[in-house]
Amino acid sequence: MEARVGVTGARRLLGGLRDVMAGDGNAQERLDRIVRLIAADMEAEVCSAYIMRAGDILELCATEGLFPESVHRTRLRVGEGLVGAIAATARPLALSDAQAHPAFAYRPETGEEVYHSLMGVPILRSGRVSGVLVVQNRSQRHYTDEVIEALQTVAMVLAELVATGSLVDVEEQHPTQGIATLPHRLDGVRLNSGLAIGTAVLHEPAIVIRQLVAEDPEAEAVRLGIAIEEMQRSIDRMLSSSDLAHGGEHRDILETYRMFAEDRGWLGRIREAVESGLTAEAAVQKVRDDTRARMKQISDPYIRERLTDLEDLANRLQHHLSGGVITAAAETEAEDVVLVARSMGPAELMDYDRKRLRALVLEEGSPSSHVAVVARALDIPVVGRVKGAIAQIDAGDQVVVDGDNAQVLVRPSEDVQAAVETRLAERRSRKASYQALRELPAVTRDGVAIGLMMNAGLLIDLPELEATRADGIGLYRTELPFMARQDFPNVADQTELYARVLEQAQGKPVVFRTLDVGGDKLLPYMPETVEENPAMGWRALRISLDRPGMLRQQLRALLLAANGRPLSIMFPMVAEVAEFATARRILNMELQRLGPRGKPLPSSLRVGAMLEVPALIWQLEALCRQVDFISVGSNDLMQFLFAKDRGNARLAERYDVLAPGALTCLAEIVRAADQGGVTLSLCGEMAGSPVEAMALIGLGFRNLSMSPSAIGPVKAMVRSLDVGPLRQYLAVVTRLPDHSLREKLREFARDHGISI
Ligand code: PEP
Ligand code: MG
Repeated sequence: MEARVGVTGARRLLGGLRDVMAGDGNAQERLDRIVRLIAADMEAEVCSAYIMRAGDILELCATEGLFPESVHRTRLRVGEGLVGAIAATARPLALSDAQAHPAFAYRPETGEEVYHSLMGVPILRSGRVSGVLVVQNRSQRHYTDEVIEALQTVAMVLAELVATGSLVDVEEQHPTQGIATLPHRLDGVRLNSGLAIGTAVLHEPAIVIRQLVAEDPEAEAVRLGIAIEEMQRSIDRMLSSSDLAHGGEHRDILETYRMFAEDRGWLGRIREAVESGLTAEAAVQKVRDDTRARMKQISDPYIRERLTDLEDLANRLQHHLSGGVITAAAETEAEDVVLVARSMGPAELMDYDRKRLRALVLEEGSPSSHVAVVARALDIPVVGRVKGAIAQIDAGDQVVVDGDNAQVLVRPSEDVQAAVETRLAERRSRKASYQALRELPAVTRDGVAIGLMMNAGLLIDLPELEATRADGIGLYRTELPFMARQDFPNVADQTELYARVLEQAQGKPVVFRTLDVGGDKLLPYMPETVEENPAMGWRALRISLDRPGMLRQQLRALLLAANGRPLSIMFPMVAEVAEFATARRILNMELQRLGPRGKPLPSSLRVGAMLEVPALIWQLEALCRQVDFISVGSNDLMQFLFAKDRGNARLAERYDVLAPGALTCLAEIVRAADQGGVTLSLCGEMAGSPVEAMALIGLGFRNLSMSPSAIGPVKAMVRSLDVGPLRQYLAVVTRLPDHSLREKLREFARDHGISI
């Protein structure tokens, strides 16, 4: 009897299904014909289709063999009875003696007591259970794997019929509960704080499969073979490309890909599905749905990760079949976009409509990755390293992104949604109160004026200057526009860009930092170097001094852009005074070039150094004699002080910038800058957190540069602060052996009514 099924049997069954689907009649009539067809083909006395309705109810919508009166009457909850168990686990179940199973729930209206064996499979679409398809036999039949496979294939076609919404309203097909679709939480790493709720948009949307059943299975097998080869070749290419050679983690992932991409079991299952009559796309989807269903049941992190790899490969294979990757940027119509991606470059992120972009969820990424830097400029919460995000979030899902707690809530319950809305409303009203502060000066209660500047790097940041009433741009990261391009911008292009920045700044000072690339900030058009420790490698000013042509072009462009206006330039990652002196000489050469060509000189030129490398702290006296200002890059400085890679998520919480040692170091920098009579500011992430900014002001910093969204909260802190008592308090606590002074400083703020 089982011999009928196998490959040719499945193919014949699919052929029959295709005829039904293409034939006349409404959805119900077609479903009736389908269950009849399956029962006959599989030599089962019963075939029934249960479709998911609102409230997690599985309703018997068609049957061959059970009493017809039970159709649309028999209903089971997810988890109830054998049918409910199949839906809850999203896995097939085959029992030769079904009634002996503890989960069996007898429904007298169906007349099923005479059938002993039962086999059922979930009707899955994009990993969601939309129903259950069941066959039953009088005898104690032992259903073979081939029969189960065949029913799964049929269920896949049926899923399409269900998805049209003509059987059960599409609205109803997204139940709020049930294991397969339970709201769930995904954890990651905070790449940018903030809170948002919105509709999931997959950056690389799932392929829409237009045809499930193949016209010509042999031709499909050939198409699949070509796509598999292409995929394997592209993975090999990626693996051998030099930019990944140094990224240990990437390489491991890709090695695993390659291993799986050649995995006979996985490929074999896809080939079999094609042989059974599915199109290549549908075959990949079938195996993929099965993997997803298994993933939901597995808690072992290692196995889950392997299954995630397979999910990923299926995605790649589908893109090869469809002939290329299309991103959602141009297509999405969602109003509140929560973008979900494996990884993406800064330029790709900028393709999305900024006004509708609410949050970003990445499977990869680290806090200093380019895309995170850009997302921060866009002021959206970002959670990275979210394992399985693409597999577990469907396009259209409601998603809450809680950047503060590095969590993503998928399909949150109504309670959670309401709570999030409340928190968002609170944030909005807090923001409004910051708006009210805009016109007020950033002066402490005891009369100390604090310069609040903003960090920028893209033209889209500039309107924030007016919106926040920041005193200027304390750090303009010139590398960001470079990263978003395919080739190195020439002097004319750069001049135009910097001139636009200065124009939009409307006379407020802008501190241009020269190119800070290398490390993790790679330019697509620069030769790659393989380095053991890129953060401590050939980057920033080191590259500029070794390739002075590039630096000269940039300095020339800055001078031309100033066109007689004031100009501020600073050099990143200065490790010793001699380096600064060399850079300054190059700048002087460019200055001297201007005059004879009749170009106006900047009305004033201020040149500074970023203090990011600890060695420079012991040369501050000499440095102060050569610079107009110093800006502490606390992100890099702390990374080097603590010997803690800033991109390493594992160490993200390990050391605190509010540690006594770190604060003592910063106090020493303040002392030396004061003595040298040089303007000092700080432009790392520290400046934008109210409690950290409070500590910095207590240590003597008077200029801070931060992301635009931080200006309101920091100004509120400044205006509620008395510096005198804080300075005294810090002088005492920085001597303590504590791991961090964060809690003490928070309590100090609470006791003194300081708004943090
Ligand atoms: C820093 O290191 O603190 C800094 C502001 O520079 P970046 O984050 O661009 O390295
Ligand atoms: Mg830096």
